Amino acid sequence: MLMKILVLNAGSSSLKYQLFNWDNQQVEAKGNVEKIWIEGSFIKHKNHEGNKSEFPGNLANHREALQKVLEILVNPQHGALERLEDINAVGHRMVHGGEIFKTSALVNAKIMEILHSLIPLAPLHNPANIIGIEAVQEILPWVPNVVVFDTAFFQSMTPEHYLYALPMEYYEKYKIRKYGFHGTSHQYITQRACELLGKDYNTTNIISCHVGNGASIACIQNGKALETSLGFTPLEGLIMGTRCGDIDPAIVPFLIKNEGLSADEIDTILNKKSGVLGLYNGKSSDMRDIEEGYVAGKEPETQILKMYVNRIVRYIGGYAALMNGVEVIVMAAGILERSPLTRALIMKQLERMGASFDETKNDFREQERVITTPESKITVIVVPTDEEYMIAKDTYELVK
Ligand code: ADP
Repeated sequence: MLMKILVLNAGSSSLKYQLFNWDNQQVEAKGNVEKIWIEGSFIKHKNHEGNKSEFPGNLANHREALQKVLEILVNPQHGALERLEDINAVGHRMVHGGEIFKTSALVNAKIMEILHSLIPLAPLHNPANIIGIEAVQEILPWVPNVVVFDTAFFQSMTPEHYLYALPMEYYEKYKIRKYGFHGTSHQYITQRACELLGKDYNTTNIISCHVGNGASIACIQNGKALETSLGFTPLEGLIMGTRCGDIDPAIVPFLIKNEGLSADEIDTILNKKSGVLGLYNGKSSDMRDIEEGYVAGKEPETQILKMYVNRIVRYIGGYAALMNGVEVIVMAAGILERSPLTRALIMKQLERMGASFDETKNDFREQERVITTPESKITVIVVPTDEEYMIAKDTYELVK
């Protein structure tokens, strides 16, 4: 059977899409709708030949955005489909699956009910994802929908790894615990790394680093995620573009008292005004700007990049100890796929641990490549992530 799968990733004001032809594993079209709800919405679209086009439009909600995307997909000039009936299934990225979803799921009324019940755990993300499903149900009512969760891969964590040392009543009452995010990416890059290196996924100790604007590190043992740096929300762990990562939690009540901040205000500061952006006095959250300053020997850029790398190295070291050794380290996402400098700064810290960096192999972007020597005890490999592919794959498995 010819299998065409549409993958949707709905954000609060955006809708990313990719159309897969599963039979020949080709991406036939992809794009992003930006500024939904906001004036000046537009769609950036790329067809199967890689030709780019941009479509303006005032898109008042996700339903209108999806409608417009579908129009483009059947447009003979830009599209990839003869008719909408050729779409066999839609796969949706869903940020939070709570403790309920340990794998992806085929959507039905009961699943929708559970998804709604999980909104308190991800009040900013899950509603947008749910609206994406509802839009498909309205416009393409014959198409099965599949939900793929950012948290599912980390449901293998055991209590000694996911509990916080808080009174147990808060776990029992609110399910406050570590969930982890970017699971689809960590699963993809670690499985792909083992495939490329000819290693058995179920017996290899792996550390995976997904470092882009959002960033996390995970460790995988016996084919299962053991622990990861993102937590109850995507705020814990590494320094990110605008998120603070690990801080002393006592800073929160201190700021509330001394700055007179509300809970929402402090949330905005920690999620949107901290991280690289905060350290850079609000100038930019983009690692390219930081690297430019670092190369020119400027401050505060040099200090920011050092802090950024230190945090990554601490997690790698911690996870290596936790697994009693690591054989493969995988690097992925916006920064580690594209930045030889940040990769090199991390690698220089891992030398004594047993990762022999081969600098001559490091000058590339967005390719699947090993950056350690053949003799290295730890193999470090860059694997560009592909969350959409994983979503399409799970969708295929569930609807075939
Ligand atoms: P998201 O978490 O939004 O998916 P990405 O993984 O796409 O983010 O990463 C985006 C980030 O990657 C940008 O904010 C920028 O800091 C960084 N980046 C992109 N290109 C480069 C580059 N050539 N060198 C260093 N950093 C880069």
